[in-house]
Amino acid sequence: MSQSTHVFHRQLAKRPPVAVSGQGIWLRDAEGRSYIDASGGAAVSCLGHGHPDVIAAMHRQIDQLAYAHTSFFTTEVAEQLADLLVGSAPAGMSHVYFVSGGSEAVEAALKMARQYFVEIGQPQRRHFIARRQSYHGNTLGALAVGGNEWRREQFRPLLIDVTHVSPCYEYRGRLPDETPEAYGQRLVAELARTIEELGPDNVMAFVAETVGGATAGVLTPVPGYFKGIRDLCDRHGILLILDEVMCGMGRTGTLHACEQEGVVPDLLTVAKGLGGGYQPIGAVLAQGRIVETMRQGSGLFQHGHTYLGHAVACAAALAVQQVIQRDHLLTQVRDRGAYLASRLRHELGDHPHVGDIRGRGLFWGLELVQDRAIRQWFEPSLKLHARLKSAAMEEGLMIYPMGGTVDGRCGDHVLLAPPFISSEGEVDQIVTRLRRSLDRVVSDIGLTS
Ligand code: PMP
Repeated sequence: MSQSTHVFHRQLAKRPPVAVSGQGIWLRDAEGRSYIDASGGAAVSCLGHGHPDVIAAMHRQIDQLAYAHTSFFTTEVAEQLADLLVGSAPAGMSHVYFVSGGSEAVEAALKMARQYFVEIGQPQRRHFIARRQSYHGNTLGALAVGGNEWRREQFRPLLIDVTHVSPCYEYRGRLPDETPEAYGQRLVAELARTIEELGPDNVMAFVAETVGGATAGVLTPVPGYFKGIRDLCDRHGILLILDEVMCGMGRTGTLHACEQEGVVPDLLTVAKGLGGGYQPIGAVLAQGRIVETMRQGSGLFQHGHTYLGHAVACAAALAVQQVIQRDHLLTQVRDRGAYLASRLRHELGDHPHVGDIRGRGLFWGLELVQDRAIRQWFEPSLKLHARLKSAAMEEGLMIYPMGGTVDGRCGDHVLLAPPFISSEGEVDQIVTRLRRSLDRVVSDIGLTS
């Protein structure tokens, strides 16, 4: 197939292969090569590709009505999806605001927080606190709360002021003689100090991924960390915004990752797994009091986009979520996730360049190191994560690589987020191909495995 020279690919110097079809957890390119989608794209394709029930639901919706602008109409399918999401949401999260993706969800949540404080007469609250080594999206507001220095660097003059605190990163942050619980409380104390420095009455919200994703592998919180943060936020009237764009909608084995932390946020962002890649869609789930404040105040959330609640996107997401419920796929995420973890540990647990393997459900990260004993990262100039991605593509394996930041320190990581429908045999193939790719890359740079 001939490729146009006019498409502006993100990797300007390199053209990706042309994807032509997908079935289950497999994608095929125009040259006839097959790839296992072990990362679900970027933790998106929870049902894999070509799911007949989702495709049928989208067809039905297109035949009936593809689009109606939300300033004129709502649609039955958007209302149904909202009911389904609220029916399975954490306590008090009674409203859903639909958008078209993760960054839009984060932008909407930030602005909801701001408008809420303006409407309750606290307009002096203008600071967000977020975490280093985090990712919340690429639009300017989302980029500002994100803590990936490499992504922020050249746009810094354009970003709103956000204060960043330490992430919950046990492998690198917990002291040798510290329990996980004590480490979590130390991080909560750091946040408490930051709030005091900014003035508690000036802070709008603390923003965090419940389980970190796209910056430093999968970062799982230690026990009690989010409970401590929830208490702290409550004490100061600060909102807790949890970003589950990547880790949410079943990926970690519960519908929302925060369920495993025993906390309920004020605003919760979801996207990727919501529509499973069949359509672009995201959402903000909001506590009733936030929406009621706006309803009784100005009566309008002063924000919006043209494609909010797009009917075909809602139909796709509704079908994806119904299939997950009907086929008990969250149980499968937990079971298959445990299997994936055991295979990873067996095949790669002693690998000299795998420093840490961490995750939950079907959301796993490997942190790659030059020297395991001292947890030393590879030189960023080696671009190990990018080399590994290329080697894996040659092995017919899609993995999500991260890394390479210099002073912002992020290291090289691989993220695995296979579809919920992956079989044990497919999990075996993922781990085997990953091991082969990694061994090839380390031998190419003159190291041993
Ligand atoms: N938040 C998180 C936690 C994410 O992982 C991502 C995407 N990787 C985003 C926000 C942004 O989502 P999108 O790319 O759909 O704008």
